[in-house]
Amino acid sequence: MEKKITVIGGGLAGCEAAWSAAQAGAQVTLIEMKPLKFSPAHKYGGFAELVCSNSLKASRVNSAAGLLKEEMRRLGSVTVPCAEENAVAAGGALAVDREKFSDSVTKKIRSHPNITVKNEICQEIPEGCCIIASGPLTEGRLAESIGRLCGNRLSFFDAAAPIVTFDSVNMDKAFFAARYGRGGDDYINCPFTKEEYLAFHSELVNAQSAPVHDFDRPENSRDDFTVYEGCMPIEVLAKRGEDAARYGAMKPVGLTDSRTGIKPYAVVQLRRENAEGTLFNLVGFQTNLKFPEQKRVFSMIPGLENAEFVRYGVMHRNSFIDSPRLLNGDFSMRNSPEIFFAGQITGVEGYMESAASGILAGINAVRRLDGKAPLILPRETMTGALSRYISDETVENFQPMGANMGILPDIGVRIKDKQERYQAVADRALAAFEEYMEGISDER
Ligand SMILES: Cc1cc2nc3c(=O)[nH]c(=O)nc-3n(C[C@H](O)[C@H](O)[C@H](O)COP(=O)(O)OP(=O)(O)OC[C@H]3O[C@@H](n4cnc5c(N)ncnc54)[C@H](O)[C@@H]3O)c2cc1C
Repeated sequence: MEKKITVIGGGLAGCEAAWSAAQAGAQVTLIEMKPLKFSPAHKYGGFAELVCSNSLKASRVNSAAGLLKEEMRRLGSVTVPCAEENAVAAGGALAVDREKFSDSVTKKIRSHPNITVKNEICQEIPEGCCIIASGPLTEGRLAESIGRLCGNRLSFFDAAAPIVTFDSVNMDKAFFAARYGRGGDDYINCPFTKEEYLAFHSELVNAQSAPVHDFDRPENSRDDFTVYEGCMPIEVLAKRGEDAARYGAMKPVGLTDSRTGIKPYAVVQLRRENAEGTLFNLVGFQTNLKFPEQKRVFSMIPGLENAEFVRYGVMHRNSFIDSPRLLNGDFSMRNSPEIFFAGQITGVEGYMESAASGILAGINAVRRLDGKAPLILPRETMTGALSRYISDETVENFQPMGANMGILPDIGVRIKDKQERYQAVADRALAAFEEYMEGISDER
């Protein structure tokens, strides 16, 4: 029987989804609205447009981005080889000539015998097996349809706080405790003396913010970002007065360092980001500061002097669904298994992460039609860890996440040198990848 799959969106995720499904023998219809209509960030007519930076991040396999690309290559990616063909000099990163890259991907997609491209604005979710990859700027009627399909679990705005690795927090300064002793050791607390707080406040209010695009401003916002009081950027709150943050996100009440008996003047709390407790977010620290400024100013927080930031805070327009409540690890919907999502809209963050999710959605849509078990890579691989992150029901207040070493399980041995440690993590990932693929090769 002919296997038919519709893919909505010819971005990074949609191209990979269409390509991998077509390579697996499905007849794919790829619907792309450009050039009939462009989102506020898209400008170029071709597929797989890079809307901002032209970097696909690090190449070396002992980095999160490099490992992800290596796994993608082994999964049959269309974008990774096109990127390599159109690379421009960028040190250790894989950066591309964005138009040539887009042209290469477009040519491959258009000339694939199993892919038919339809140039139209998709308004409704089509019947049958489909992959929704319409990106972070999905809007209008399609966004409304997706909202209905997801029981309104669709966010239009990303107000995320930075995330650090647990390993990099200085626990000689920070301490575990919950406010008033409720909840045991749920939070890591970074305690400030008065002097430390004043120095931090002064840097925070004078730090440089990232530029704000018109389309990044949420509707009904009172300043650039504040839709409601709870999502105010920490630097905006701090500008309201010297003590404003001490009465807000940094309030010290109910927190005493049991080791010293000292009640701090102010506190930054870190909350678990994943069940393993390898990643923590800075509670209430959603921010629009430039990334280097976040590194500089937030490293002044006692305990975070050497913190490794796996994700910086952002505040921008970004449509994404509440995947942990909606999706399986193969990117299909729990309550409509023939509908798959891929790309930034699932809550993976970044060009290559979006593309990787497209590969998995494409492969798994075909496997679903063939009645085969889903392909979900081991959690030790970067793609496997990302699919687990987006489908992990224990993640509350879900925010998008890019590839980073912190989402992989601990390797269980202490390797002090970071490069060597990451090499061991990458070796383990690729060994787990090969073993898994060998296990399913007979039925592929
Ligand atoms: C402003 C901005 C800047 C970003 N900068 C970076 C960056 O520098 N580096 C990075 O790694 N990540 C960046 N990202 C995050 C993310 O990596 C990109 O958005 C990435 O392009 C996501 O890939 P995607 O395939 O999910 O969506 P997209 O690449 O946006 O693809 C979606 C496609 O769907 C089409 N489409 C949408 N709606 C419809 C419809 N109704 N009918 C038919 N077609 C439709 C669009 O035209 C588009 O071609 C940025 C995001 C934004 C919004």
